[in-house]
Amino acid sequence: MKTVLFILLALILGGLAAFFTLREKKKCPNCESRNITKTGKKIHEEETSIAVIASPTSYHKLEYKCNNCGHLFLIKQRSLLFE
Ligand SMILES: [Zn+2]
Repeated sequence: MKTVLFILLALILGGLAAFFTLREKKKCPNCESRNITKTGKKIHEEETSIAVIASPTSYHKLEYKCNNCGHLFLIKQRSLLFE
């Protein structure tokens, strides 16, 4: 019975973690609008310090465009989780 409870708990925690990761505030740094779209441009990050600490794979940045003010900005994403 304990095993079942443990699995349930793990699923709930995993679900919550995924939920909060997805809810990660993606908004325009210029006007704070959430009305943003991906431009499709991907920039690979070569900062070895970050790569070594956080994950064996490299990070990449996705370019977003704000539909409110037209500001272009980059959001860092972990390749492992988002590809
Ligand atoms: Zn904006």
